[in-house]
Amino acid sequence: MAYGGGFGGGNMQQLMKQAQQMQRKLQEAQQQIAETEVTGKAAGGLVEVTMMANKQPVAVTIKPEAVDPDDIEMLEDMVLAALNDAVKQADAEPDCFDMKYIEPLARLIAELSKLPSVGEKTAARYAYAILNGPEEDAKALIDAIKDVRENVHFCRICGNYSEGEICHICEERKSDVICVVKEPKDIVALEKVKDFKGVYHVLGGVISPLEHVGPNDLRISELLARLDGVREVILATNPDVEGEATALYLARLIKPLGIKCTRIARGLPEGSVIEYADESTLSRALSSRVEL
Ligand code: ZN
Repeated sequence: MAYGGGFGGGNMQQLMKQAQQMQRKLQEAQQQIAETEVTGKAAGGLVEVTMMANKQPVAVTIKPEAVDPDDIEMLEDMVLAALNDAVKQADAEPDCFDMKYIEPLARLIAELSKLPSVGEKTAARYAYAILNGPEEDAKALIDAIKDVRENVHFCRICGNYSEGEICHICEERKSDVICVVKEPKDIVALEKVKDFKGVYHVLGGVISPLEHVGPNDLRISELLARLDGVREVILATNPDVEGEATALYLARLIKPLGIKCTRIARGLPEGSVIEYADESTLSRALSSRVEL
């Protein structure tokens, strides 16, 4: 009896499930390998060979300048060099679903994969770099992660990231203009606009019924508590549906207090993200803000 007591059926089912999962992972891995291309180059790209990560060649590109009818041998050498280069790159492709990962490496890859825009393949590349790189680099990375988690707090006034209780912007600037943003990283983007000298207020999100985020989940009461003596509130949430709704909600709260409310949507394409907007776009968006 392999599985004792009354649990045999349950264990068997679990085993089957695990086997199915493994099979699915293997299929995904094969699929991924089948879809990954590498390109080998020779003579600064005059000759290129493209192959799949499983080393199946798919294309050879030869620029006209590489063709000299009097020296075919040179062209042959270049094709060979490009092919070798491609094989080298295919060998360097980490096989991210390799079931043979030893446990600590698998764990690091799993943790790195949780980061935004990091797929398992990229995570594997990072993990190998951490493993094979100098030990002091790995230690510095550990220290930096620890430091940022232990020593970065939210500014008591505006909600920006700060090393101390109050961030450097709140400490250095006195302004009667408050620019309201969704996240601290939006401040980094807006600070690129050199002529803006107002202070900020981080909401910590936007109103989003779909994600169950309501006004009470945001730092709105903290904003209202700061409005004494404020002349203008610039609502700089992203120009998407949630950002617009949040801006309108705040304008309805703030305008009756006799404070000017403006919106910075002009110049920013609809649905875009402040975080990634360039300086001139943001500068235009700020200077051509409209009153709500
Ligand atoms: Zn602050």
